[in-house]
Amino acid sequence: MSALTCTGVGRSFGALRAVDAVDLVVEPGARHALIGPNGAGKSTLFKLVTGTMTAETGRVELAGRDVTGLSEVRRSRLGMSQTLQHSSLFSSMTAVETLTLALRRHGPGGAIRPWPRREPGLRERAEELLADVGLSGRGDAGVPSLSHGERKQLEVALALACRPSLLLLDEPAAGMSPAERSRLVELLSGLPAEITVLFVEHDLDLVFALADSVTVLHLGRVLLSGTPADVRASDAVREAYLGA
Ligand code: ADP
Ligand code: MG
Repeated sequence: MSALTCTGVGRSFGALRAVDAVDLVVEPGARHALIGPNGAGKSTLFKLVTGTMTAETGRVELAGRDVTGLSEVRRSRLGMSQTLQHSSLFSSMTAVETLTLALRRHGPGGAIRPWPRREPGLRERAEELLADVGLSGRGDAGVPSLSHGERKQLEVALALACRPSLLLLDEPAAGMSPAERSRLVELLSGLPAEITVLFVEHDLDLVFALADSVTVLHLGRVLLSGTPADVRASDAVREAYLGA
């Protein structure tokens, strides 16, 4: 059974068909990249998968379960966790506070608790997550004082704090320094196989370093779905990028 299956998923904005009858299959444990020129519909497709936005057509299944009609919160309870292209961190919090809040809400097995409570070991777990994403020693830094790259790292840690089975990352490396990028590649390639990853990325070197499968979107449609080698060999993909 696949980790994620989209069938005929679509969404328009006025006359613009931003996502047009997209079929997407992500296998369990995959590092699946979603690529395509700007405006191809990648972020919109992400939102349809996570439930941030409702699909007008088609069906979204998470590990065989139809989640099309479920809210974002219900989907996250079932194991989806995401980072957005544009930051959603609270600016009044420190890095550790950001993570402990999420850790309190997400118990083992992904259960969402009704109300945050104090719990031993939370700070330690938050520090571990910070170390995992390369932010050791930055726990007490306020969100506004983090660099752009550090915020992106914190967002990945935040998504991981929710103990996802499917992790969705929209341009996690955007604006990162080369050092931050290689740490991110290390982190994502080191994630346990129980976590399936679907990520949007512009940098094809990073895509080819990380992904074992790739879907190319162009003008809201799937241009190709296959291995990184298939993508490299595709004339249609080259044209979509160069001709965009
Ligand atoms: P990508 O992430 O691949 O760059 P997006 O999914 O953000 O593409 O956008 C796909 C198309 O849909 C673009 O033409 C964009 O301008 C349009 N679009 C995205 N979100 C909205 C929205 N909320 N309202 C209107 N148009 C939108
Ligand atoms: Mg986008």
